[in-house]
Amino acid sequence: MTEMLTLTALGGLGEIGLNCYLYAQGDRFMMVDCGIGFPDELLPGAELLFPDLRYVEENLERLAGLVVTHAHEDHLGAIPYYWERLRCPVWCTPFAAAVLRRKFEDLERELPALRVVEPGVTFEVGPFGCRFLHVTHSIPESNALAIETRYGRILHTGDWKLDPAPLVGADTDIPAIEEFARDGVLALVADSTNVMVPGTSGSEAEVRDSLGQLVARKTGRVAVTTFSSNIARLETAALAGQATGRDVVVVGRSIRRMLEAAKECGYLREMPPLREESAAQHLPRDRVLMLVTGSQGEPRSALVRIAAGQHPRVRLEAGDTVIFSSKIIPGNERTLFALHNQLIDAGIEVVTEEDHFVHVSGHPCQEEMEQMYRWVRPRIAVPMHGEPRHLFAHFRFAQRMGVEKVVALRNGQILRLAPGEPEVLGEVPTGRFALENGGLVPSEGELFRVRRRVLQHGSLFVTLVLDRYGSVLAPPQIANLGALEPERFDPLAEELADAITRAVEALEDEAVMDDERVREAVRITTRQFLGLPRQKRPLIDVRITRLTPEVLAALEDETPGVR
Ligand SMILES: [Zn+2]
Ligand SMILES: [Zn+2]
Repeated sequence: MTEMLTLTALGGLGEIGLNCYLYAQGDRFMMVDCGIGFPDELLPGAELLFPDLRYVEENLERLAGLVVTHAHEDHLGAIPYYWERLRCPVWCTPFAAAVLRRKFEDLERELPALRVVEPGVTFEVGPFGCRFLHVTHSIPESNALAIETRYGRILHTGDWKLDPAPLVGADTDIPAIEEFARDGVLALVADSTNVMVPGTSGSEAEVRDSLGQLVARKTGRVAVTTFSSNIARLETAALAGQATGRDVVVVGRSIRRMLEAAKECGYLREMPPLREESAAQHLPRDRVLMLVTGSQGEPRSALVRIAAGQHPRVRLEAGDTVIFSSKIIPGNERTLFALHNQLIDAGIEVVTEEDHFVHVSGHPCQEEMEQMYRWVRPRIAVPMHGEPRHLFAHFRFAQRMGVEKVVALRNGQILRLAPGEPEVLGEVPTGRFALENGGLVPSEGELFRVRRRVLQHGSLFVTLVLDRYGSVLAPPQIANLGALEPERFDPLAEELADAITRAVEALEDEAVMDDERVREAVRITTRQFLGLPRQKRPLIDVRITRLTPEVLAALEDETPGVR
């Protein structure tokens, strides 16, 4: 193999989520992050999305290890599911390790040996010299990855922002970034999430002031919801509760697990004592502040169950307040607004980032990105972590920042970073897998095609009993599952069965012996008989049972009166 340095993303380019990047030098490669994503309405019933790691699995002997930049689901969530197959060394910081351990425990999977490293410590992953450089984000211990290669230095930013007062964890290590960049950086591979947002992302400290004032004005119960991993925000909300004489109650397992992981790593020293769920109902209403899971309206989360009146221990009522201290994720508005509506209908006040300052983003806005480009001054820039519109905006942004070579990369493309000019050399298979019944299935496959069709158009099941010459032995059975309204279908069912019988019996000898041709004839007849418009395409499933002469003879013997 020709010696060169390449970058290939298996996820993270064109979507926010599923982050998974491969850096290769010579015949070894290193994986950076391995995250999950959340499915849209095109994948009905899917719970989680995973990157397609077939290329890695087919080249396992080349995989030197996996480096995890931080503990967000979109960066490490896929690891427990792929672990059986990967079984490579994993490097991460203590907090990511604490979170990963709990994930493996919760899924009852065998725990991998993690190589826990602190920011600033050098470690080697195959041919790469690596170092975590601490950056602020919406979770403790987020890191940029500083990579030394034979061809020069790469800074892979991970998820980052500049927060002058992050409140939990250290500041962005700007001196380390500047020092790393001093002798020149070959490539900056960088977060694109907020590239369209002018200015700066703001500080957690500002949210702490604002949220505190907001809670102080409330008289009923207050529930605050945010991402379970946003440890600083949970502390902010808890302190706002404490400052206003409220006990802090944790509702939802994922928050509890994340707080445990944070405490294990030495964070949250100021956190007030936390009460069990059951306390929510026993305390006077103006003496309780709940930290609740479900900021994105996740179907099984505590807040969704509370709003539906289905939570076993926690209720909210008119005069209470729910504060969504989180981003309204584009694409998720409908789900989330339905939850807001449900709460408002019950007389509960809903506060979001749209009507009060209750959230700051964990990703860099334009002014912060400008700073990064000035510190690093890369020769090559590769936008990552974004939908196509973010990546494209970042592409233009990097050009404006004077970067010599900006590369618009897509998932699967093998980008040669060095030697020579950056160039896409080829492609590896990529795609998305969905979690179904504990296993991973391709999102492009048969399963979701059929599921989408059935959801949209319903289905009809036709059962035929034929002898081996194709004579119809019994009236066809037809089941209508959501294809037509029963009032319209039921009166027609018998006539349709007759039409199907006639259509099958009219087939020529050769056709009637061929199951697939019989099925086609039944489908065409059914559509025509029901007068379905062209755009209405219910799934028509035809089952054929062909009785053999032996079976027919046996049936005749056993049937009284037939003979
Ligand atoms: Zn993140
Ligand atoms: Zn991320």
